[in-house]
Amino acid sequence: MKVITDGQPGETAYPLVVIRQMVDAVHARGFRVAAHAERTGRQILETGVDSIEHGFTLDEQDLRLMADRGVGWSPTTTCSCATSRKRTDGWRLRT
Ligand SMILES: [Zn+2]
Repeated sequence: MKVITDGQPGETAYPLVVIRQMVDAVHARGFRVAAHAERTGRQILETGVDSIEHGFTLDEQDLRLMADRGVGWSPTTTCSCATSRKRTDGWRLRT
């Protein structure tokens, strides 16, 4: 199951306790959970998800923690580039 965990800037889409309950319910049925977490990677790690998709805000410490826990990462490098330019240029890409 893939769950979108990004909400408004600085917030998760659902309370972390609800995401944790979703993860536990999916795991109890023998499946894994991928988190669509562009900006909420660190927070979502604590819910027990099996992988982080995108993960634009993950840092080295997060990645080490993920490796220790066996959590996968599916980075989206092309979108990361566009997102970082969006943040500094207000959606205008400079060439
Ligand atoms: Zn996604």
